[in-house]
Amino acid sequence: MVIKPHKIHQYRKVKLVKSVVFRCMLPGCTHYTREAFIINKIALCPFCGKDFLITRDLARRETVHCSECIVSTKPKVEVKEVVEFLEELKDDTTSHK
Ligand SMILES: [Zn+2]
Ligand SMILES: [Zn+2]
Repeated sequence: MVIKPHKIHQYRKVKLVKSVVFRCMLPGCTHYTREAFIINKIALCPFCGKDFLITRDLARRETVHCSECIVSTKPKVEVKEVVEFLEELKDDTTSHK
């Protein structure tokens, strides 16, 4: 397996017995760093794929991602809309008979 080298890591918080470390989530990468060293580092956002600067606030998350993706983690589609969409699908399948 050939692993593509990367400069920007994608961090995830790992809780150890006495400390917390941030491990890179990218396949084949063994890089990890301590909580104190992750602030002001550049990381890769697992959701939008862009690189961003890790602030103290962003480092609190289990999966470290950019500030833009914090907003977009809210569900975009309302439950009512999904139900209506499913109803439409049902109508579609019955009309073919
Ligand atoms: Zn890495
Ligand atoms: Zn992002």
